[in-house]
Amino acid sequence: MITESQAKALAVILHEIRPRWSAPAMVKVFERNHAHPAAFADIAAAAVAAARDPKVDTPGCIFIDRRFWPPEIKAQLPKPPPCEDHIGQDAHTCRSCWADVKAGIRPQTHIGKHHEAVSEEAASVIEGEEEP
Ligand SMILES: [Zn+2]
Repeated sequence: MITESQAKALAVILHEIRPRWSAPAMVKVFERNHAHPAAFADIAAAAVAAARDPKVDTPGCIFIDRRFWPPEIKAQLPKPPPCEDHIGQDAHTCRSCWADVKAGIRPQTHIGKHHEAVSEEAASVIEGEEEP
């Protein structure tokens, strides 16, 4: 459970750790997850752990990425979505996607999402031209 005052307090702390995460945006994330089964202490600990992880891009990941939760809470969390490109991997922590990012063949915005490398032929198609 997250109350309004807890959401606001935690949002301010997370903004100090991650300046890019705006406090109002995080309050919205916490509002959406206000009925979360975890105690506020666990939510706060998971949120701070997520904010300190450079692989975590958006505050919404706090509630999706299971690495930040103690085992007894993990069991109550909904199953994370699978990676669209790699069977058996969770979308937000897919190791294969991260390997692609490091190799420069996948943008970091497409971790856990389907990504098709653009071939030179496709890239040269003039925009607005329709396929026959
Ligand atoms: Zn993947």
